[in-house]
Amino acid sequence: MRKRIVAGNWKMHMGFRDGAALAREILEGIGKRGGDPVCEVVLMPPFVTLPAVMEVIAGSAVACGAQDLFYEESGAYTGEISGGMLAELGVRYVLAGHSERRHVMGEGNELVARKLAAALSSGLTPVLCVGELLEERESGRAEEVVLDQLRSALGSLDSGECSKAVIAYEPVWAIGTGRTATPRDASAMHRIIRDALRDLHGEEISEKAAILYGGSVKPQNAADLFAAPDVDGVLVGGASLAADSFLGIIYP
Ligand code: PEP
Repeated sequence: MRKRIVAGNWKMHMGFRDGAALAREILEGIGKRGGDPVCEVVLMPPFVTLPAVMEVIAGSAVACGAQDLFYEESGAYTGEISGGMLAELGVRYVLAGHSERRHVMGEGNELVARKLAAALSSGLTPVLCVGELLEERESGRAEEVVLDQLRSALGSLDSGECSKAVIAYEPVWAIGTGRTATPRDASAMHRIIRDALRDLHGEEISEKAAILYGGSVKPQNAADLFAAPDVDGVLVGGASLAADSFLGIIYP
């Protein structure tokens, strides 16, 4: 049985004061509903907000994740943050290849693969984001694009490393647009991803892998997405910025 994961990507929102207050509200909401949720809850604030959120969640079942990392451990890389720095803070998860980094900052598959490998060697759980653009879906290339992103990031890992990664399928046309993939479409792509994982690293890794869906998830559509085969959780952007809506996804 794969554990459900609900991760909130705060993107470039929430400075340390607002972030700490939001984390507190989320923890209070979880407390009111009787303690530990049945899923793994992960908060992914901006780098500068991580320490304040880490302080709030200390001792709770909620985990912290970062939105990005650089592939080197240290050195003359102005503006970058390494996996080791995140691990030292107590951060457990980190995104690699979010669509905004791919399409706004121009990160390609090769860079994403290096970041993913760096996350693993720092002991972090990478959340590899894959997903097609609208024109790629409309021209029938969604599967090809997603598999290319997946294979280039996971293909050179050994099975032990691969078993530690989480995958997030986030169709770019659904991110921040209010347009969600249907549970059926999400489930179909998750199956394709799971089959590709089996081809790369075998049945056991494939069956254990957590594959999240991301793209305009909200309390109103979370339950249907969770009920879809092969959907093991969600990566949430906009709806993770308010405690009520995020709690409505954790407890759909
Ligand atoms: C995201 O940022 O990963 C995301 C899925 O955003 P939203 O939920 O706002 O579509």
